[in-house]
Amino acid sequence: MTDALAELTVPSRLLLGPGPSNVHPRVYQAMMTPVIGYLDPAFIQLMDDTQRPLRTVFRTENDMTMPVSGTGTCGMEAAIYNIVEPGDTVVVCQNGYFGTRMADMAKRCGAEVSLVEAEWGRIIEPDQVRQALKAAGRVKAVMIVHGETSTGILQPLEEISRIAHEHGALFLVDAVTSLAGCELLIDEWGIDVCYSGTQKCLSAPPGMSPITLSAQAMEVIAKRKEPVRSWYVDMTMLGRYWGGGTTRMYHHTPPMTMLYALREGLRIVLAEGLEPRFARHQRAARALAAGLEAMGLVLHAQEGYRLPPLTTVRVPESVDDMKLRQGLLQGHNIEVGGGIAALQGQVLRIGLMGYNATAGNVLALLLALETELAKQGFRVEPGAGVAAAARALAAQA
Ligand SMILES: *Cc1c(COP(=O)(O)O)cnc(C)c1O
Repeated sequence: MTDALAELTVPSRLLLGPGPSNVHPRVYQAMMTPVIGYLDPAFIQLMDDTQRPLRTVFRTENDMTMPVSGTGTCGMEAAIYNIVEPGDTVVVCQNGYFGTRMADMAKRCGAEVSLVEAEWGRIIEPDQVRQALKAAGRVKAVMIVHGETSTGILQPLEEISRIAHEHGALFLVDAVTSLAGCELLIDEWGIDVCYSGTQKCLSAPPGMSPITLSAQAMEVIAKRKEPVRSWYVDMTMLGRYWGGGTTRMYHHTPPMTMLYALREGLRIVLAEGLEPRFARHQRAARALAAGLEAMGLVLHAQEGYRLPPLTTVRVPESVDDMKLRQGLLQGHNIEVGGGIAALQGQVLRIGLMGYNATAGNVLALLLALETELAKQGFRVEPGAGVAAAARALAAQA
């Protein structure tokens, strides 16, 4: 008998699911930087070095742009708990799992929630939002998911933003999967509140959630009748810490190791450039789609609105989804996601996020998938997927 623990080991996986995605090696390296005190003058520089590139990546001039300490869901809480108070009415667009989570949070804040729904795998139409706003009367905010990781939909935002503002409502957007993977223009599209996460297209570990709020959103928060019910993500208090310069006061100990990670992740994004980075995600996703279709598989998300960092594909009738994913993991070290909630057992969710959006990963996955499908008797012409993906890559070169 011994109390000693064995050395920590985990398998080396290719993470091609809905997140987390593989962490960039340079980000791991940055995480070995020693921890310093949160009032150390050197820490001010680090905060500034994180906020400045975050504004660039969000394409915003918003003063209130910073990461909150927690995963993407923490960003969602920061956004919703600060904006919503009891008695408010909000419109929540729900065409996937994360829209459902937003609606749940808004209800917990005491809001009356008017739902705008679409099938899981189709976009929300602007007209639906217009109708809902008309019926709801005074509305505090319209909430929507930009990249729905549960369905593979990339939701167009500009027109819905205009409709929300015409009605005097704030526009609140979940960009956990889309930030740094797809075009997202906070200021130009009139987005008032937007949050993301570090573990998807930013290629850092889970643990921080970048958030940005417009001056109008901060004004709405300043006029609240009651204090924000979350102390930890009270944006007014957090703003005093992040925007306070040398006079900043203790709020909570920021997880600086995660700040080092985020800073390095952002440095990598800026060095690549936003446009080339989006193009790389698109190339990889198109190659994957071509390969999957050549294998006789059917893509799930509405054509024309597919989310490059996350592809959903239907699991064929004759195939056991769980066995397929276990085969990919155990036989090939590749993780892909299964469907959740309404799409349970029906789709695979394949992520090509940030560092992972490469031709090599697409080809490796297609080959592994072909092997595992064949084991279940789903016949694919050998190499058909890989060949089609290679042709798609060549055509886009
Ligand atoms: C992953 C994800 C979240 C939640 O982020 P966590 O880091 O899991 O807390 C929220 N919204 C979307 C669209 C996501 O993909």
